[in-house]
Amino acid sequence: MLQLGKSQKAFDDAKRYLPGGVNSPVRSYRSVGSTPPFISSASGSRIYDIDNNEYIDFVLSWGPMILGHANPEVIASLQEAIPRGTSFGAPTLLETELAKKIQAFMPNMEMLRMVSSGTEATMSALRVARGYTGRDSIVKFIGNYHGHSDSLLVKAGSGLATFGVPDSPGVPKGVAENTITIPYNDIEAVKSLFAEKGDEIAAIIVEPVAGNMGCVPPVPGFLETLREVTKEHDAVLIFDEVMCGFRASSGGAQKLYKIKPDLTCLGKIVGGGMPMAVFGGSAKIMSQVAPSGPIYQAGTLSGNPIAVTAGLATLSILQRDPTIFKSVEDTTERLCEGYRKLAAEHGVPVQVQRVGSMFTIFFTDKPVLNFDDACACNNDHFQTFFHYNLERGIYYAPSSYESNFMSFAHKAADIDTTLEIAGEAFREIAKNM
Ligand code: PMP
Repeated sequence: MLQLGKSQKAFDDAKRYLPGGVNSPVRSYRSVGSTPPFISSASGSRIYDIDNNEYIDFVLSWGPMILGHANPEVIASLQEAIPRGTSFGAPTLLETELAKKIQAFMPNMEMLRMVSSGTEATMSALRVARGYTGRDSIVKFIGNYHGHSDSLLVKAGSGLATFGVPDSPGVPKGVAENTITIPYNDIEAVKSLFAEKGDEIAAIIVEPVAGNMGCVPPVPGFLETLREVTKEHDAVLIFDEVMCGFRASSGGAQKLYKIKPDLTCLGKIVGGGMPMAVFGGSAKIMSQVAPSGPIYQAGTLSGNPIAVTAGLATLSILQRDPTIFKSVEDTTERLCEGYRKLAAEHGVPVQVQRVGSMFTIFFTDKPVLNFDDACACNNDHFQTFFHYNLERGIYYAPSSYESNFMSFAHKAADIDTTLEIAGEAFREIAKNM
């Protein structure tokens, strides 16, 4: 039995000072009705809590830690950078170096701007799209999550889906009215919307591989359609690759599916676990951003030297050894194939959906293509699976509306252990079917 006495105490104390005891809702474990382990440290594939429990981590800070936690080279570069000062609010050589590095992975990002979170990246990309086109309306897909800015907190996935909040109080009506939502992977809905209103639409923003309703790949033709209609109507196509960048492939979903968006948002891995994100794209559009153009965007800590250092170290390792992507993807596939076999052995209906090194086990017998499909999955089975695993040291995302992630630090023995416990968890589920 997992002992979480110290975490329980810490959680009770935190709740007096932080809403729900946390600084981001899904961390509260409210969705799974238990106490979240309070984390004290992490290393490689493992994460440790203040009760000295050890877990194999498939959350990986919700994606960033592709090299595993506390990668020695990343940590060493931070140790070297910190004594030089933690923030200057002035240009540094490192920022251009990182911009070049990002561009080497994502050549469509001819120019980019650094910010401090994925939310800022998508919010700013929308402003650029609106400023560039002179239009107000944007299109987003139901169950996609792009951070918590007003325009994008409409029918979003991730924590909103987990807590059943389609739209947040506090988003002005006038702002929400400019956000048109349609189902993910629905090619006909995209075409008919653009046939009717295409010339009023500033941008489509999309998770080209959805991760925030669980991992849902685009159906063939979906991304192509987005590219065609936006081109035809002079709207901006924004790929939000905050999660799938460096995970769907080394060059993100845009490389995997060979689609060139106008703007791309990156976060998570690009900051190597520090608060850092970017948006960028064609020089024609990005040159409209202040100070070279009139569209305003700014940040005191943007391009922060410590965050940039962590991002640079992470991307340098990935660039030096491109086989890392294949290796992480192969490990993910081995794990997913293992889940499929074990679930079948125990007669538990699952769809294990994977793109690159992101994956979700959906408890359903038919492929999950959109948010309705994700909502139709068996939540009781998910709950049983989640708790059975956590009790035995396997740390998954505490919601079925999330992706899990693999790192380069996860080795064969981690996968063996994980599959052994997954098999037992499927057996437990089968008992109650
Ligand atoms: N876009 C996507 C696709 C995301 O997955 C997330 C966060 N999970 C965000 C944007 C928002 O990023 P942040 O939490 O850094 O604001």
